[in-house]
Amino acid sequence: MTLESAIRNLVIANRILAHEGVVDAYGHVSIRHPDNPQHYLLSRSRSPELVEAGDIMEFTFDGAAVGGDKRQPYLERFIHGSIYASRPEVTAVVHSHADDVLPFSVSLTTRLRPVVHTAGCMGNHIPLWDIRNKFGDTNMLVTNVEQGRDLATTLERNNVVLMCGHGFAAAGRSLAEAVRIAVYLPKNARVYMEALRLGEVRVLSPGEVEQKMVKNPNAPEIVRAWEYWAKRAGCGHLLDGAV
Ligand SMILES: [Zn+2]
Repeated sequence: MTLESAIRNLVIANRILAHEGVVDAYGHVSIRHPDNPQHYLLSRSRSPELVEAGDIMEFTFDGAAVGGDKRQPYLERFIHGSIYASRPEVTAVVHSHADDVLPFSVSLTTRLRPVVHTAGCMGNHIPLWDIRNKFGDTNMLVTNVEQGRDLATTLERNNVVLMCGHGFAAAGRSLAEAVRIAVYLPKNARVYMEALRLGEVRVLSPGEVEQKMVKNPNAPEIVRAWEYWAKRAGCGHLLDGAV
């Protein structure tokens, strides 16, 4: 994929996540640099709905802006670099504060589980990271490399990590896959929360989740959703066929 396509897709991803309510003024999405796997691309500190191609900056894994770029970066960019550093197969990362997942990030008894088939892509195990365990009282944000690495260690080989009282980070092998996980995770949390009000809940079995984990991160069912969400978000004109 060319750098130009990657940046265009990253703009689309920002708009999709905003339009689908996964991010609001806060939250962000990044991709690994297509020509340099040791770098990643992420907007300057700007709300995702407003992000344009000119806002995209390039970073090293330790969060330093490349090329003397002095624009204000996101404070929590360390989430992204740390996950890319520990997961070579990951090419896109989403960070969100979506309300619907937050109850499961603070409950001491009920863990988030996949319950609807569209959310099988989130995986069987969704680890929970509490910044307090290692760093004590903080402002709850991931603002340095050490915190980012600790988060990435808890994510381990999973697709999603919940962040206590904060939100989640999702990792994908393609940008479309990361966006898909991030869109369906809050939907699944909403359904699960409603179902819990009714009593006992049937959750997806490990075997069902296994069958929902797509082998190809650019499979037709993923590209289909990408195109749909992009058009809904008003940026169908930015689609160039490469995700
Ligand atoms: Zn955050």
